[in-house]
Amino acid sequence: MVSLTHVSAQSPEEIAADWEAARISNVLPSDTRHSDVKRYLDELRKLGIKVEQVGLSNANREIYQMEWGTGPLKVFMWSQMHGDEPTATPALMDLFAFLQKNANRPDVKLISEKMTIRGVPMLNPDGAEMFIRRNLQGIDINRDALNLATPEARILKRLRDDWNPDIGFNLHNQQELTTAGNAPRQAAISFLVVYGDPEKTTSPGQERNLRLASAMTRALQRFIPGHIGRYSDEWTPTAFGDNFSAWGTPTILIETGGLHGRDEMFLVKMNFVAFMTALNALATGSEANESTTPYLALPLNASGILAHVIFRNATVVNAGRPTNGGSVVVAVRQRRRASFAQAFLITSVARDTRLIGLSEFNAAGHYIVQRFGRTREGELAEFFFYKKDRVVDWSSPDLEKEFPPDAVFSGGKFIRGSLPTIR
Ligand SMILES: [Zn+2]
Repeated sequence: MVSLTHVSAQSPEEIAADWEAARISNVLPSDTRHSDVKRYLDELRKLGIKVEQVGLSNANREIYQMEWGTGPLKVFMWSQMHGDEPTATPALMDLFAFLQKNANRPDVKLISEKMTIRGVPMLNPDGAEMFIRRNLQGIDINRDALNLATPEARILKRLRDDWNPDIGFNLHNQQELTTAGNAPRQAAISFLVVYGDPEKTTSPGQERNLRLASAMTRALQRFIPGHIGRYSDEWTPTAFGDNFSAWGTPTILIETGGLHGRDEMFLVKMNFVAFMTALNALATGSEANESTTPYLALPLNASGILAHVIFRNATVVNAGRPTNGGSVVVAVRQRRRASFAQAFLITSVARDTRLIGLSEFNAAGHYIVQRFGRTREGELAEFFFYKKDRVVDWSSPDLEKEFPPDAVFSGGKFIRGSLPTIR
């Protein structure tokens, strides 16, 4: 046994450094394929982690479970039941790699003595391959906890029922424009302590999870203050998190959002810090002394506040005619793999907007022309900008060639020139 007195609590910064030193993930989450998962699992096997194939997807892609630790407390974590929600998949790989590589460190040894951790990375490999939410049958696995019409849901249910874990971590991504409360701040991470019934009856397990969510919140506030939200706790009768809790495995939902100016790997690190904070708190027993306030005081997730890019005071040229007066052109990025061309769509063209852009530009000195035709909702946010003192024949069949633009906005950024920045 490891004596508690020899185990000093890791600071969140030390946990982050542990991730840097031990991580094996080397592909951005959104670019991570089933083949990468298999490659990571091979590496984990070589390190000595127990990895077991627990079933097949519709398209016969293998679904795996990893196991680490020997203690009595049963911790179960699963990721990417929604195929286009990838951040926690590499974070789980890095967690198991870290634990195994540091198995002899007193604090890690204590975790091993106190608990057994099972992790299922990429529960929906077919959806992940297509980078879509649903599985190959077009079913949302997270609405299939009762019907069990999908092989992936049946695997997840069986793994829970056969083992009856004490705690579950249900790992997802939310829209990257989700905000923490009504301030224009992205919710980079949101937590939800899931109740097991519509009446939100509390149990010792839920109370413990409230304290764990508070510990994770406090740890992440060291890195992303103001960017942590609380997910809606509306009861969803067919969802897995709710039913895991109802079946006896009180579950914590962790939703990774976006954080402007940070890459996807930073959010993997935030996941890792959250996981390790929870495991340490369980292992040392420090969770018992944790207040529930940090979690309960988190602002609720909100939406409808942010856009990715806003051009203000724009004079839009449509069908060869400049508009009178300023317009606001709002563009939002579509969810896709990092390595694929980034599509930004125009979501509104109006006199004004209440939205706030993660990036905003002042287009007062320019005409704005949509590259392929019209500046209107639903079109690609691909733009040419011309200074107002230019004389341009808007009817030219090849505008770009005959009248080279002063600035070109493409794929979510300026690839030529630029406009004054507002924000
Ligand atoms: Zn999800």
